[in-house]
Amino acid sequence: MVNWKGLIHYYREFLPVTEKTPVVTLLEGNTPLVLSQDLTNAVGPKVYLKYEGLNPTGSFKDRGMTMAISKALEGGSKMVMCASTGNTSASAAAYSAQSGQLKCVVLIPEGNIALGKLAQAMIHQAQVIAIKGNFDEALTLVKDITDHYPVELVNSINPYRIEGQKTGSFEVCDYLEDAPEFHAIPVGNAGNITAYWKGYKEYKDIGRSTQLPKMLGFQAAGAAPIVLGHVVESPETIATAIRIGNPASWKMAEAARDESGGLIDSVTDDEILEAYKRLASKTGVFVEPASAASVAGILKLSQKDYFANHKNARIVCTVTGHGLKDPNIAIKNVTKPVILDADIKSVLKEIGL
Ligand SMILES: *Cc1c(COP(=O)(O)O)cnc(C)c1O
Repeated sequence: MVNWKGLIHYYREFLPVTEKTPVVTLLEGNTPLVLSQDLTNAVGPKVYLKYEGLNPTGSFKDRGMTMAISKALEGGSKMVMCASTGNTSASAAAYSAQSGQLKCVVLIPEGNIALGKLAQAMIHQAQVIAIKGNFDEALTLVKDITDHYPVELVNSINPYRIEGQKTGSFEVCDYLEDAPEFHAIPVGNAGNITAYWKGYKEYKDIGRSTQLPKMLGFQAAGAAPIVLGHVVESPETIATAIRIGNPASWKMAEAARDESGGLIDSVTDDEILEAYKRLASKTGVFVEPASAASVAGILKLSQKDYFANHKNARIVCTVTGHGLKDPNIAIKNVTKPVILDADIKSVLKEIGL
C-alpha cells in the first residue's frame, strides 16, 4: 500500500488507542500474502503464506510491539522488560529505541537464541541478560519483577500485544476479501494463535468477512505441551522460537482450536527442516525454522487426506519470522560452495556449459 503509516494508523478503529496515544511505529504490518504454487500442488487447496518475516525487525512480534510500546509510553513507563526466545527481544529493543525514551531489558535463555536475534537486541541497545534456564523460567522472573516494580511487561501476556497481532488476520481478510477456510500457525507461547482467532472473530462480527477459518496450530514435537496435555519441563527443538514448555496463552489456544473446529498437532524437527528447505527452494520464501512448523503441519495433514474434500478452499500459513534470523541453521542445511580458480574454463565446466 502506498503511504502505509503502520498498523495502528490503518486499523485504529479496532485498537484500544485514542488521539492521546503516542504512536511508536516502524511502519510494521501490510506484509504480503504470497501464493505458493508448490504447496498448492502438494496439498490441494490454494496455499498462501503470510510472510511476517518482512516486518521491520523480521518477525510478527512487531505487530504487537507497536501497540505495547505505544501504550507503555502513554502510561508513563520509563522501562520495559520481556523474556524472549529472541524475536520479542529484537522487537522490544527496536521499538524502545524508536520511542526515544524507554529503557529495554530482556532476559534470554542462555545458549538457545539464534544469532541474528541476539545481534538485533544488542545493536538496538537493550540490556540483554542471559539466564541459566529456559524461556519459561525467564518469563516467570520477568512476571515477578514487573509485578513488583514500575516496569512494563511486553511479553504476549500483555493484552496490547494480542490487540496489535490480531491485525494479521484483518490483513488476510482484506486481501482475500473474506476469511480463508483454514489458518495454519506455529504455536509457542500461544499468543499469536490467540490473536489471529480474536481478529477473525471481530472482523466477522462487524461484517467485514462472512466466515471463520479452522485454526490449525502446530507445536514442535519436543515442545508440544498443548498436544500432550501437560507441561514439558525441558522443551527441545531446533525451532527455538517455539521452544516453550508451558505456554502463557494455553487456554486461549485451546479455545481457538475448539471454537473454530480446528486442531493443534505437533511436527518433528525433521518435518520442520523439510518444510523449511522446501519453502526456500520451491517458493523462494526464506523463513526461520519455527515458521516452517505451519507448513510442515499442513503437509502432514494433507498426507492424512485432511484436505481431501476441500479442493476449493484456501489455507493461509503464517510464516512468522525471517530466515536470516538464524543463519547457522541455514548454513548447516546446505552444501558448501565449490572453490575454483578464477578461470573461465573451470567455471563453465562446473556449471555444465
Ligand atoms: C514468537 C514466535 C513464534 C511463536 O508465537 P507465539 O505467539 O509465542 O505462539 C513462532 N515463530 C516465531 C518466528 C516467533 O518469533
